[in-house]
Amino acid sequence: MADRIITKDEIRAAVKEAYLQFKGNREGKNADYIPYLAGINSELFGISVVLLDGETISIGDTDYHFGIESVSKVHTAILVLKQYGANAVLQKIGADATGLPFNSIIAILLENDHPSTPLVNAGAITACSMVRPTGDADAKWNAIVSNMEELAGSAPVLIDELYRSESDTNFNNRSIAWLLKNYGRIYDDPIMSLDLYTRQCSLGVNTVQLAVTAATIAGRGINPVTGKKVFDASLAHKITSLIATVGFYERSGDWLYSSGIPAKSGVGGGVMGIMPGLFGIASFSPPIDAAGNSVRAQLAVRYIMNKLDLSVFGGQTVSIE
Ligand code: GLN
Repeated sequence: MADRIITKDEIRAAVKEAYLQFKGNREGKNADYIPYLAGINSELFGISVVLLDGETISIGDTDYHFGIESVSKVHTAILVLKQYGANAVLQKIGADATGLPFNSIIAILLENDHPSTPLVNAGAITACSMVRPTGDADAKWNAIVSNMEELAGSAPVLIDELYRSESDTNFNNRSIAWLLKNYGRIYDDPIMSLDLYTRQCSLGVNTVQLAVTAATIAGRGINPVTGKKVFDASLAHKITSLIATVGFYERSGDWLYSSGIPAKSGVGGGVMGIMPGLFGIASFSPPIDAAGNSVRAQLAVRYIMNKLDLSVFGGQTVSIE
């Protein structure tokens, strides 16, 4: 018997309220260090919740395919967790917060050559270098995309223009890749590893695909829409703990404290939150704050969590009916 029961109608109502309340918010601005992102319609806004029985609650621009950007770090972290196991990922990358921006170079120096976590740029580039089969860019790319498809329940589509835009301007990430190579933290060709990272960031997904991914993590590796087992149940809490620790970079503590849900952001405007055992939630809206997290998506997800009085630290068993 659960301590509390939440109805699907309560969730639907909270999602709708959040959408109506924050649709008109004008704070933040589109990422512009990647030129393609600056040109996306700032008004776009959508929210999707996927329950563990596969039911999807969606409102707003939930069909729109936006650049997944750093949310993709989660998918590839899962891939290397599957391929290498939780201990090897801890040894080769780490599971710590940097307390610094997502693309920080000083974080690599401060951590004594360690990329800290697969959820910042350095660790994500290392993760791409680890993806098997080593040495084969095409096969590695296929592994990254099919893993994302299994998690999301349908295939992501490369946004060519975003990939070109990002490849032409990713000078900071090039420095990170070579610095990691210098420290022995790149386990394949560094230029190829960086290119895989850049390409995975340029994949287009919608909020439903991100919410299905989040629900797959919340459901301990079973995709609730396809019914397929995507990863071993024992990895679910590892990935959720990585997300809780650093999903919003230097704002991760404030986020977890105020919203109660581990969530991962991307500068394309996507946010994906995991409520273990209950649901996955995703929201998308392009304007971001100074840390690179979507303003409307944060407001919406936080509102829904608070409205439902839920937190991963709530200490109650909850069931949805
Ligand atoms: N591709 C982006 C970058 O490397 C991703 C950053 C992000 O979404 N926080 O800068």
